[in-house]
Amino acid sequence: MTELLTKPTSKTNPIKSPWGGQRNRYWDLQFKLFLRVLKTKKVTIRKLLNVALCDLAYLLKWSKGSPTPYILSLELWNECNAGCLFCRDKKGKIHDINPQGTGISKGKMPAEMAMEIISQLKEDILVAVLYTNGEPLLYKDLAKVIQHATDNRVATIIASNGLLFTEENARAILEAGIDLIKIQLSGFTQDIYGIQIRYGEVEYLKENIRMLARLNQEGHYQTVIMIDYILYNYNKHQLHLVKEFCAQLGVKMNIRRGNPFGGLENLEPSLFSKSMLPLKDSCDYLWKVMQVNFNGDILPCCEAVVWSNPKKYGSFHLGQTDVYKVWRGADAQSVRELMKTKGRAGAAICAQCTRKGVCFKW
Ligand code: SF4
Repeated sequence: MTELLTKPTSKTNPIKSPWGGQRNRYWDLQFKLFLRVLKTKKVTIRKLLNVALCDLAYLLKWSKGSPTPYILSLELWNECNAGCLFCRDKKGKIHDINPQGTGISKGKMPAEMAMEIISQLKEDILVAVLYTNGEPLLYKDLAKVIQHATDNRVATIIASNGLLFTEENARAILEAGIDLIKIQLSGFTQDIYGIQIRYGEVEYLKENIRMLARLNQEGHYQTVIMIDYILYNYNKHQLHLVKEFCAQLGVKMNIRRGNPFGGLENLEPSLFSKSMLPLKDSCDYLWKVMQVNFNGDILPCCEAVVWSNPKKYGSFHLGQTDVYKVWRGADAQSVRELMKTKGRAGAAICAQCTRKGVCFKW
């Protein structure tokens, strides 16, 4: 037990990826989620055809792209209560990944904007991801937006630090039809959990997860709840405790590598070297995902919300913007054309990016 509670030194060797490769593709989760959206009738032949069209557009590198993306990602609000080291500083200032950057501004998306974008894309998108960098439970209209998506047969996903769950907000989003809730629990005791999360009590979080799992069971909501264990050297000795915790609650557990660029502010050696960047690979985000920032900026991908002054596809204005036109507009086409002709090296944001395939970042 003493060993369990001992903080390892930063000099230990980098851990190996638990699944052997560079990237966790979440196959099991994708399968579970697919079963759920089939059951809740949030998937249609048209949506599946759209996935195939996006794949084809990517394969053939059509600058115009497919007629529509199949994933919508919305940054509802980029504020957060947990202050994780890899995300922001002590005062909550978001790390700007643009080395020439001027800083990331903060703000909230009006619920009407989120709902209108979902309404426009409802026939074609498989899922709306309702967070990017911020904590979605801080957004007071979260249940309203989820309900709107459910009413329009669009599946929804959030990732949360889980610290702000109450019986009331948990019940509200379960009732609204949320399909997947991902919660980070990367340590079982406070001394380990608190290395990465500046402002959070692990016992409180575990209580919240127990409560959420209980409500999910009692209400027969069948929402997929997934606990995310971000694996570093410092916390690998507590992995089995979180595994047991998840097994007892009957919730899914996922293990993923830590931030490869030493996101723990150099507490650990990097798990990735810059020479391993996938510079030769194209990126399918540009052909499959639409990202909208809190201020209505329509962006190529979720990296662009933490890269100041990114290249935009356009801006969303309530009652005025047709997102289908923006998706195939001149600015979107020029970004795809650049990827097609110069690859990731063509844009500074892409040249530093580790993303491969459309999935969670790590
Ligand atoms: S390579 Fe990375 S930064 Fe560039 S479009 Fe793809 S996901 Fe975004």
